[in-house]
Amino acid sequence: MRWYRGYESQVEEDALLAARTAYKVGGPARWYVQPHDETTLAALLRRAADRRLPVHVLGGGTNLLVADGGVDGAVIRLPLRGFARIERQGTRLTVGAGFSLPRLVKWSLAQGLAGLECLVGVPGSVGAALRMNAGGKYGELGARVVSVRGVEWDGTPFRFNRDACGFRYRDSDLKDRLVTACELDLEPAEPPHGEALVRRIIAEKRASQPLDRRSAGCVFKNPKLPGVPPAGKMIDELGLKGLRVGGASVSTLHANFVVTDRWATATDVLGLIRHIRRHVYRERGVQLDLEIATWGVRQEELAV
Ligand SMILES: Cc1cc2nc3c(=O)[nH]c(=O)nc-3n(C[C@H](O)[C@H](O)[C@H](O)COP(=O)(O)OP(=O)(O)OC[C@H]3O[C@@H](n4cnc5c(N)ncnc54)[C@H](O)[C@@H]3O)c2cc1C
Repeated sequence: MRWYRGYESQVEEDALLAARTAYKVGGPARWYVQPHDETTLAALLRRAADRRLPVHVLGGGTNLLVADGGVDGAVIRLPLRGFARIERQGTRLTVGAGFSLPRLVKWSLAQGLAGLECLVGVPGSVGAALRMNAGGKYGELGARVVSVRGVEWDGTPFRFNRDACGFRYRDSDLKDRLVTACELDLEPAEPPHGEALVRRIIAEKRASQPLDRRSAGCVFKNPKLPGVPPAGKMIDELGLKGLRVGGASVSTLHANFVVTDRWATATDVLGLIRHIRRHVYRERGVQLDLEIATWGVRQEELAV
C-alpha cells in the first residue's frame, strides 16, 4: 500500500528536481510532496516517519545541490497557497515559510517598516532563510525573529521563541526541523529610510557576484578562525578562479561561487567542490565547511 494513500493529488512520483534548483542539475525525488495545509503536512510526516522514509524540505532551491542519483525519499515543498500568508499588526509580521524572501523585503519597505534591508538580493523562501539564518555583512534575519513555528519530522508541532532557535552564522537549531511560519518584529520608518542601504547592497552584489549565471550563492562558509581570510579570498589567492570540472567552474567574479553551464551535472559540481576543499586544505591547512545543502551526496564524495 502506498504510504501517501488518500493524498495522491498532493504527491508526484519520480519528480525532476533540477529545474527547481538554482544550479539546474541533479536527479529526481522519489516523492515530491506539496501538502495543501498544515494538517495534511503533519499527517504525511507521521506516515513517512512510521515507515522510516527520509524526508527533505525544498524552498526555492537557491542554496542546494541535488546529486545526479536524486533523492531517495520524500521532498516536501510548501505550496504558496496555505504556506505563504503574510499578516501585519503594528510592527509585527506573521509570515508563512513559503513566502518569497525578496518579496518580503520589498513588501516591508513599501509598508514603511525597517529591519530587513540587509537581506536585499538574497533569493529563496522565508523558511530556508530562517533555517540558514540568511544574511550578510549588514545583518541577518535571525535578529528580527520573535518566534518560529513548524513541525518536527514526525509531525509534532513546535513553536520556538528567538533564543530557542539558536541563530548563528549561516546556521540555527532549526536545521533538523520543518519551519512553517515565523513572527518578525520590525521598526517603523519613514521612506526613504533604508533605500540608500538597499542601493548600496545591490550595487555591491552586482559588482562582486555572477548574478547572470546559475549559482547557489556562496558554496563555503567563511572560517571563523583568527587570521584566516574569508573562503572566497583564500580560493582566489590560490589561483582557483575559473577552475573548471566539466560544466561547473569557479566564478571569475567571486571565488566562493560555483557557476554551472547548461550541460553541467551535479557530479561536475561535486568534483569541483572536492578539488577546492582539498587544495585549500593542502595549501592553507583549513577545512572549508559547506554553506550549501547537499542531498543524495555521500560524505566521502566531499572528503578532503
Ligand atoms: C545569487 C545568490 C546570492 C545569494 N546571496 C546570499 C546572501 O547574501 N546571504 C545568504 O545568507 N544567502 C545567500 N544566498 C543563498 C540562498 O539564497 C539562501 O541560503 C536562501 O535562504 C535559501 O533559500 P531557498 O528557499 O532557496 O532554500 P533551498 O535551497 O530550497 O534550501 C536550503 C536549505 O534550507 C532547507 N529548507 C528549505 N525550506 C525549509 C523550511 N521551510 N524549513 C526548514 N528548512 C528548510 C532545505 O532543506 C535546505 O537544507 C544566495 C544565493 C544566490 C543564488
